[in-house]
Amino acid sequence: MPRKTTSTPQQSTAHETLKQSEERYKAFIAQSTEGIWRFELEKPLSIKWPVKKQLDHTFTYAYLAECNDAMAKMYGYTKAEEIIGARLTDMLIPSDPNNVEYIKTFITSNYKLNDMETREIDKHGNIHIFENNLVGIVENGFVSRAWGTQRDITKQKLEEERQAFLEKVNNKLVSSLDHHVTLKEIAQLIVPYLADYCRIAVVDSNNSIKEIAVNHKDPTKVTLAQDLYESYKDLPQSTYGIPTLLRKGKPELIPEITDKLLVKHKTTPEVIKIVKQIGLKSYMGVPLIARNKIIGAMTFSSVQEDRFYTKKDLQFVTELAHRIALTLDNIRLFKEAQEELREREQIAVNLQKEEERLRLAQEAGHLGVFDWDMLKDQVQWSTELEKIYGIKQGGLKRSYNAFNDMIHPEDKKLTAKTFNDKLKTTDNVELEFRIIRPDGSIRWIYSKAQVFFDEKRRPIRSVGINIDITERMQQQVNLRFLAEAGKILGSSLNYETTLSQVAKLAVPQVADWFGIDILDEKGNLKQIAVGHKDPTKIKWAREMRKKYPPDMNSPRGLPYVLKTGKSELYPFITEQMLEMTARDKEHLKYIKEIGLTSVMIVPLFAEKKPIGAITFVSSETKRQFTKEDLAIAEELAHRASLAIENAKLYKSAQDAITLRDDFISVASHELKTPITSVKIFTQVLLKHAELNSDEKAIKSLNKMDKQVDKLTELVYNLLNIAKIQSGRMEFSKKTFDFDQMVHESVDVLQHMTTKHQLIIVGKTNKTFTGDEDRIGQVLSNLISNAIKYSPQAEKVVITLTAKNDQIGVAVQDYGIGMAKQHLNKIFNRFYRVSGATDKTFPGLGIGLYISDEIIKRHGGKLWAESKPGKGSTFFISLPLSQKETSEVLPHTL
Ligand code: ADP
Repeated sequence: MPRKTTSTPQQSTAHETLKQSEERYKAFIAQSTEGIWRFELEKPLSIKWPVKKQLDHTFTYAYLAECNDAMAKMYGYTKAEEIIGARLTDMLIPSDPNNVEYIKTFITSNYKLNDMETREIDKHGNIHIFENNLVGIVENGFVSRAWGTQRDITKQKLEEERQAFLEKVNNKLVSSLDHHVTLKEIAQLIVPYLADYCRIAVVDSNNSIKEIAVNHKDPTKVTLAQDLYESYKDLPQSTYGIPTLLRKGKPELIPEITDKLLVKHKTTPEVIKIVKQIGLKSYMGVPLIARNKIIGAMTFSSVQEDRFYTKKDLQFVTELAHRIALTLDNIRLFKEAQEELREREQIAVNLQKEEERLRLAQEAGHLGVFDWDMLKDQVQWSTELEKIYGIKQGGLKRSYNAFNDMIHPEDKKLTAKTFNDKLKTTDNVELEFRIIRPDGSIRWIYSKAQVFFDEKRRPIRSVGINIDITERMQQQVNLRFLAEAGKILGSSLNYETTLSQVAKLAVPQVADWFGIDILDEKGNLKQIAVGHKDPTKIKWAREMRKKYPPDMNSPRGLPYVLKTGKSELYPFITEQMLEMTARDKEHLKYIKEIGLTSVMIVPLFAEKKPIGAITFVSSETKRQFTKEDLAIAEELAHRASLAIENAKLYKSAQDAITLRDDFISVASHELKTPITSVKIFTQVLLKHAELNSDEKAIKSLNKMDKQVDKLTELVYNLLNIAKIQSGRMEFSKKTFDFDQMVHESVDVLQHMTTKHQLIIVGKTNKTFTGDEDRIGQVLSNLISNAIKYSPQAEKVVITLTAKNDQIGVAVQDYGIGMAKQHLNKIFNRFYRVSGATDKTFPGLGIGLYISDEIIKRHGGKLWAESKPGKGSTFFISLPLSQKETSEVLPHTL
């Protein structure tokens, strides 16, 4: 602007005003934080030229003609003077397509631009982003200068860019749970925005480094970068890179990689070579840290001339690493959670299976579980336990009393006492008791509990199991019953009595009802025993039986068992079965009243034919008979059959014996009279012959007389037997000289034998009170036997003794003797060692029987000692002071 030397007051006021305005302008420019500038073109630019020409012209001739300090500072200077005169191309790099675009837009938009961004380099080579407002001064179709302002929005812009970048990274991070994929994508984002070469590695679960992503803006260099990594990673002196990051957990920064630096860090020539090949310029690295744990590392490398990492960059990538680490950790946590969830699910499935198995095992073993909190009096029951107690699921009240109420009244006290007693010495209590189920059935329970105590040894909790052992206990009861029944059956041959006793024994321990039916000779069914614990019920059952005798044509039940000889078992009795069995309504009512639960019928046999049956019925106790019960029942029937058979056999033998005895009795009686007559007539004839001295006749008649005597004795003996049998043997008591009686008897017998000498040794010197004739008969029996059974011997010794109020007689022979097993039996009726048909030693086997009876009736004893081939000795012992023995001795069967 031209200046005048002189001026009017107006002029000077105007001048002053102008000056002031100029000062204000200068102050404004100087004070402004925006860059204010003026570019001049050394040669004006025609607006008519093509855009390209205008563009080239601008880049060639534009220079900074004026600016403020703020502008200078934007380019790394302090004062405007330092930058004024600078070429446009120094500031606005023409190789940057953005800058070309910027100038082009200026030209095409009528040399005016608002808020347009440029990327420019400062004095230090740092890139700045400016927001520009400018206007070109067009005069006569030519532009020679432009005014403008600019604001440094680098920071803001960078921030925006980085935010956008972080956004992108975030999107990637959340897009996948596969961290391999995610990190690869992130590496791709980092190159080239943040680095030309990027590497991400993580530490795996084995603590070894696992490189996950590597990216280079020039893919051909990735292998080279790989080589670099491989060659330094294991070097102990390596000071930078992933291994150090992982080790130290601290971010690393090398703003500029220089030869000096490489040397300083003792880098090997090989590594230097690769560094050069890659063209590394700047480097930074950050560890990936999550929850205070180093889980990986990232490195960023620049190969660009103008990209040198700063602390700010490091801060940014630290933030980036932080996010990545968090995400990686979240992924890990998520995966772990997933894994845990899967495991838990698996555990849940397994647990369910286990529980199922346990439940099945409990069910199969009839095993229930309980847990009793003794302080709170709360009991937990398993479903199976409720089943054992016959209660529907959840039906058991959860207290001890509820349980105790179910124990059989007879077992309650003992169970409680045993439990308390056992607790004094053990933590493990085992009990056996009965319970009554709500339906009235009785079950046996085995209970085993583990009891827990407090510090004062007060029981606080009891956990354990209950097992239904009814079957086992019933088996024991059954076996005991069988043994008892066996004893009863063997105790008498009157089977009707014994079976009635068995019936009594059977109820209620093996059945509530017990009945025995036998077919009589005519084939009619006779109920010989019926048992129930309540006698009034037995009466009632008998009446019903009379009213409704079994239908012998029925295809089931008792008649059918009798027909087939096969047992029947009905574990359950259904309503339908009852209806089928009932004859009429009343009968149905009757059998319903019994409350049948289970029935078994087993046949009784005689001579392999079914002759009866035993019926077991369960009603009140609701027991269900099992196969095991049936086996016991069959065994009982088998034993009862044997008893019946024995009784029947015995009875028929007994009948035969009675018949024989009757015959003997009648026959001997009938023979007595004619024999007496024969004896008298023989005597008469003998006298006659003696008068006529008919020697021949005398001899014959003597023989005949002897035979008649023998016959008389025989008949006498037979009569005695009959008398003993019927209990009619009579004794005539008198006191006599015992020794004299012996001598007289021996004298008579001595006459009858020529071979044997009968020797009497000793004497009793006693008188004896008894039947003299019968005791003499015993003596002659013994001596006759001694003679008979010692055909080769020559003597028989009769020894008399008296000691302690006892008279003793021993008859000893030196004959054939006998084996030990016969010694007791020879006193039985008709018993003979050599058999009934023996011709050498004929006999009937009745002598000793009668002798024994006579001695017994005198309160004495008769016995024998003998050795085969050596001889026998028979002993009689008679008491001098006899106790009154009953006149009629009981039958000995
Ligand atoms: P019997 O002699 O008529 O057969 P007993 O009742 O007198 O009948 O004797 C029974 C059995 O005892 C005889 O059959 C015989 O086998 C045996 N016995 C009796 N006395 C003697 C004896 N002294 N020596 C050997 N056996 C004898």
